[in-house]
Amino acid sequence: MSTPALVGSRLAVRCRRAAGLVALPRSSTSTTANRRTLAVAGALKGGHLPSRQRRKGQMRVHIRTRSKKLRSPAEMRGIVGALLLSFLPRLVDAAPSHCGSRSVPAVELRTDYDVIVVGGGPSGLAALSALGRVRRRALLVDSGEYRNAPTRHMHDVPGFDGIPPALYRWAAMQQISHYETAHAINGTVTHVDAESNKGCSYFTVTMDIRNGTITSKTARKVILGTGLRDLLPDTPGLRESFGQGIYWCPWCDGMEHADQSMGVLGSFEKAVVAVAEIITLNTDVVVLANGTVTNEARAKAEEEFAPNSEAYLGDHGVRVDNRTISRIVRLKHGADEKRSTRPTAPEHDLFRIDFDDGSSIERQVLFANYPSEQQSAVGQQAGVDMRAGRMAVDSNMLTSIPGIYAVGDANSDNSTNVLHALYTGKRAVVHLHVDLERELSGTLRKRSSQSDAEEMRKIWARVNGEPGQPLYAGEYR
Ligand SMILES: Cc1cc2nc3c(=O)[nH]c(=O)nc-3n(C[C@H](O)[C@H](O)[C@H](O)COP(=O)(O)OP(=O)(O)OC[C@H]3O[C@@H](n4cnc5c(N)ncnc54)[C@H](O)[C@@H]3O)c2cc1C
Repeated sequence: MSTPALVGSRLAVRCRRAAGLVALPRSSTSTTANRRTLAVAGALKGGHLPSRQRRKGQMRVHIRTRSKKLRSPAEMRGIVGALLLSFLPRLVDAAPSHCGSRSVPAVELRTDYDVIVVGGGPSGLAALSALGRVRRRALLVDSGEYRNAPTRHMHDVPGFDGIPPALYRWAAMQQISHYETAHAINGTVTHVDAESNKGCSYFTVTMDIRNGTITSKTARKVILGTGLRDLLPDTPGLRESFGQGIYWCPWCDGMEHADQSMGVLGSFEKAVVAVAEIITLNTDVVVLANGTVTNEARAKAEEEFAPNSEAYLGDHGVRVDNRTISRIVRLKHGADEKRSTRPTAPEHDLFRIDFDDGSSIERQVLFANYPSEQQSAVGQQAGVDMRAGRMAVDSNMLTSIPGIYAVGDANSDNSTNVLHALYTGKRAVVHLHVDLERELSGTLRKRSSQSDAEEMRKIWARVNGEPGQPLYAGEYR
């Protein structure tokens, strides 16, 4: 596990912006600060003339007076104010971290990356792209089990309609590779641990990057775009054809099978909504309920859709077949057809659905209606609150753990498509990018109102005389 370094805050921020990563060593920052201190002290000569002496490494300030006249508190404030100005570069250097406490010296938490993105589907890619474009140091870690991997073509992503999902991800990564601060590796994240170092919060992300090689990287923020996994039943023939004639979403693949004979797989309580989604593509629809039609399921179907669900199905001529499915046999493969260059073109698959009573029917396309689960448990293990099996987020994609964002299918928006994945990836970055700066700004405010006041008090105590002496200007107020 690598421990993040702590470096001078303002300068580190400036350097990081200018050069990516590098912060000036402490020695060089203090030299600059001392030079500036001297310059300011010189500029004050002829006025109240402060002079400096170093004793045992400490700055001592003596006030040489032209007359023995007692100085008023206002004059003293002027002197102290000028001295404070001369100290400012040192104070900036020695300022508390933007995420630390006041007792922490002059630090910014230096992590391996600003952000680690887990998952390289469209949500993670959108996040990485946005991070690269604002020069955040970002690492994307991807285990490569994309939800839409089995499908032939990705649809309903304007500009990319009808291209293979792998081609889309490759093109996205090609473009992102032009951004120098954005990096990506293959690997599986096994743990995301929230840590803090002297008041600065960060995360240690542990990953298996190659055949059991475990490594850890640190980052200030983490974006989880880890996706969902479809829970398909063990019906022989179903899994093999999922994404290729047996689909999950009509927007993704329905149009290519419009006017073909359709079947709806899955529990009856979800089936009426599924029919409503495809009915504009064809009315030759059979609900293959596989023994799930019960009075309870009918009531739930009405809750999910609308009262009189069965009348609705009947009105469209949709049949409900409650026989038990024993297997699905592919008779024809739509991928065998010559591919059109148009974004959408008909695809002709054909399936035979065998029932346990020995009978069967044929359908050209099947729409599956099965549950899904988190592809990865890293969010839950890190303590992220869940909502109906998804990582609960607010409108900025922030989870219940400050600094951890959840994007794409895996979050609680309950919207599972590429456009949502792209939007949420971007949305999270817009928020966290500004949030990192907001944290810095908050500390600067705190410093000016608290640390500077303390420093004024200290300087006042040093330059003020003892009660009864000519230089005594009263208590600091
Ligand atoms: C068959 C099918 C076809 C679809 N077709 C379309 C379509 O045409 N148009 C459309 O808009 N939507 C379509 N979708 C939906 C679309 O696939 C998802 O909405 C989209 O992929 C969500 O993107 P994501 O980035 O959230 O997740 P994913 O694309 O699933 O990517 C998640 C990534 O995170 C990785 N990951 C998970 N855990 C870890 C870990 N611990 N460490 C590292 N990496 C990890 C996974 O391996 C994976 O690579 C389809 C879905 C299916 C099932």
